[in-house]
Amino acid sequence: MNGVVVLLLLPLAFAAGWWCALRRGGGQLAGRSDELSSDYFRGLNYLLNEEQDKAIEVFLRLAEYNRDAVETHLALGSLFRRRGEVDRAIRLHQHLVSRPGLSNDIKTLGLMELGDDYMRAGLLDRAESLFSDLVALQAHAPSALRQLIGIYQHERDWNKAIEQARLLEKATGESEAVLIAQFHCELADQYRLQGHVEAARDHLRQAFDNDANCIRALLASAVMDASEQKYAAAIKAYEQAISVDLAFVPQVLPPLQSAYAHQQDHVAAARFYDGLLQRYQGISLVLARVDLYRQQEGEAAAQAFLTRQLQARPTVRGLMALIDASMERLDGEAMANFTILNDLMRKLLEGQMMYRCTRCGFGAKAHHWQCPGCKSWSTIRPIMGVANE
Ligand SMILES: [Zn+2]
Repeated sequence: MNGVVVLLLLPLAFAAGWWCALRRGGGQLAGRSDELSSDYFRGLNYLLNEEQDKAIEVFLRLAEYNRDAVETHLALGSLFRRRGEVDRAIRLHQHLVSRPGLSNDIKTLGLMELGDDYMRAGLLDRAESLFSDLVALQAHAPSALRQLIGIYQHERDWNKAIEQARLLEKATGESEAVLIAQFHCELADQYRLQGHVEAARDHLRQAFDNDANCIRALLASAVMDASEQKYAAAIKAYEQAISVDLAFVPQVLPPLQSAYAHQQDHVAAARFYDGLLQRYQGISLVLARVDLYRQQEGEAAAQAFLTRQLQARPTVRGLMALIDASMERLDGEAMANFTILNDLMRKLLEGQMMYRCTRCGFGAKAHHWQCPGCKSWSTIRPIMGVANE
């Protein structure tokens, strides 16, 4: 190197050394925390890009040399849980909450996460006592109460679920009446199956107290009324259920038809169906009306009505009914062909989902009050379509 250039560079080297010394003294902490936060954001970035292996590596390194990185612990723990490594998540969160000198906020946050881990691991007893402690401490009460409600729902302990839902109402100031009505319906079902009619009726009354238009309570009342031969009361409850929510038409029509038949009240049935046809175009209603035409006015009137309806709105079930009705008048090759067609359509319907959850998309062949997929209440609705309702 040229001597002149060395001389020129010397002051620069001194300056650089002085700056480094300065950083090593007062600036060391700032340097480390810069490094930490850049690592932290790198980890977050991996996390957001679903590169979870890389994120775990970064966060583990962070947690190693910064024992106070609480957020890191929390992020890492929920990462483990999401990956299904629940044991590691539990160890990590237990480690976090057992550390001395934590603020209450951080400690309860860690406990909530630990409760989530227990839920995921199926350790419901531990989760229950942890969330109960949090509720008693009035820490994260709404979230802890929601978790407790989930636990009691899972355990089908409806009385405790109602109790927690009431506490949740107090904690949030928001009504949980619709949910509480569902829990009373569950209790009513339990008592009805055990033959305790009065207790069942009592819980249905409490369901109505919470939710005057509770469809499930209306249907349960109607079932009990019909079993006691109180058909007029049953019909009233079924009709009210349909007027509250047309989505229940397919479910309500078969028992409603049977109640009308017991009452021998064709006129009231025809009036109700015809009024409903103005608002509801599903095939269940068309088929119920066809049955009534058949009983009141004969086969020709029934088939004429069915054909008109199918021209306006063709469905597989409607077509099957039409073929069934026409079968008598067919013979030979035509009858054989229609039998094949009918079998084919029956097979098509067998694999068909009739209901779907509006929240999570869970498909079901039968109606559920609580979605088996996302555990939401009253979100399962009938699917409208050519091969469905
Ligand atoms: Zn769902």
